Amino acid sequence: MIIYCHSTQHGRMESTGRAGTLGGNLPTPTPNSMKFIVDNNVGRLAGWLRALGYDALFINPIEDQDLVQIAQREGRTILTRDRGILRRRVVRSGEVPALAVESDDWRRQLAQVVRELALDATPRLTRCMSCNGLLRACPRDDARPHVPPYVYQTQREFLVCEDCNRHYWRGTHWQRIHDELLVLSQ
Ligand SMILES: [Zn+2]
Repeated sequence: MIIYCHSTQHGRMESTGRAGTLGGNLPTPTPNSMKFIVDNNVGRLAGWLRALGYDALFINPIEDQDLVQIAQREGRTILTRDRGILRRRVVRSGEVPALAVESDDWRRQLAQVVRELALDATPRLTRCMSCNGLLRACPRDDARPHVPPYVYQTQREFLVCEDCNRHYWRGTHWQRIHDELLVLSQ
């Protein structure tokens, strides 16, 4: 595991004793305050982190330099399997935090990120899994034209993404996501 961090918010570096082979330190974990930028080689992580309520930016395609610059500008932790990004000066120095994702299997990737960054693995319907926008409650009648008739009849509560207008409800799809994420918190 290789990780670099720079705790700009707290103005101090704090080691948890689990520092990686290149001598980085783990960021101080604060549930739901960490923000991410997810590299294309671990793209599936974005949707799953959003399902945990985390702000996870994913841009495809993106140049390495742009990815690092956005992370630096917006205080995002980089998640990547690209060693070239991890060798960049601002990452090596700890100015831009980054986690080297080890597995090519998304379940293992997610488990690693949750474990090593001490994320809160509770599933939350607060962020759009598709675009990273924030969800807000949607009156049932407003949701009606946007959801299948059966869903309208059987669901009481709906949410809508403020950015892409995608509608969400706690149906079987969410239940599957919930079940998948539950494994992480056990
Ligand atoms: Zn959206």
